[in-house]
Amino acid sequence: MTDIQHNLQEVLDEISSEVCLVAVSKTKPVSDLQEAYAIGQRVFGENKVQELTDKYEALPKDIQWHMIGHLQTNKVKYIAPFVALIHSVDSFKLLTEINKQAEKNNRTINCLLQVHIAEEETKYGFDFQEVEELIKSDELIQLKHIRIKGLMGMATFSDENQKIKREFESLNTDFKQLQQNTLPENVSLEVLSMGMSGDYKLAIEAGSNMIRVGSNIFGARNYNK
Ligand SMILES: *Cc1c(COP(=O)(O)O)cnc(C)c1O
Repeated sequence: MTDIQHNLQEVLDEISSEVCLVAVSKTKPVSDLQEAYAIGQRVFGENKVQELTDKYEALPKDIQWHMIGHLQTNKVKYIAPFVALIHSVDSFKLLTEINKQAEKNNRTINCLLQVHIAEEETKYGFDFQEVEELIKSDELIQLKHIRIKGLMGMATFSDENQKIKREFESLNTDFKQLQQNTLPENVSLEVLSMGMSGDYKLAIEAGSNMIRVGSNIFGARNYNK
């Protein structure tokens, strides 16, 4: 086993089969993804459109590609033909564009709404009230080519476990509360995407069923990218 395969296996051994592991391969070469692929990993996450499309073209077609980074409206068209899940939907405008490009490609694109749970100002996302309004809105029902599968959140970058835990728990509470609503046809709240290398154990304890793990599998990234 290579280091990457060993690290990947270690994460898989720690989580239950109910939790989906998204291997976050941003900035890493295709050969690193091939190592993970060779032992069965099929879900990969990227945060840049160009890198995502390049890797999609270079790698086997049974991979599910997740877009996890901020997505600009004018770039949706490049990933619309193949993307399996967009974690980072943070505006209605973006959702409308995803719907339009999905229709052009004759498909339905799965989306998560990114919810702002961290203290930091810079992180993108809706707040809970906006999400609630959105899933009840008449405008949303018109978008027949998207499906809102759940929520995504990122905790404050901190070593204070209690704070991180509270943030994850509050998102889980919101998630459960939203599930109580009568949901439109294009909304099915099944996925709660939270947890990265430093905090995925806390996230799972707080109810996450999809974790996005990069550096614990592929090693530290070169951060000027
Ligand atoms: C980079 C990234 C991750 C993975 O981060 P690690 O700390 O390397 O596991 C997860 N989610 C998002 C949105 C990211 O941009």
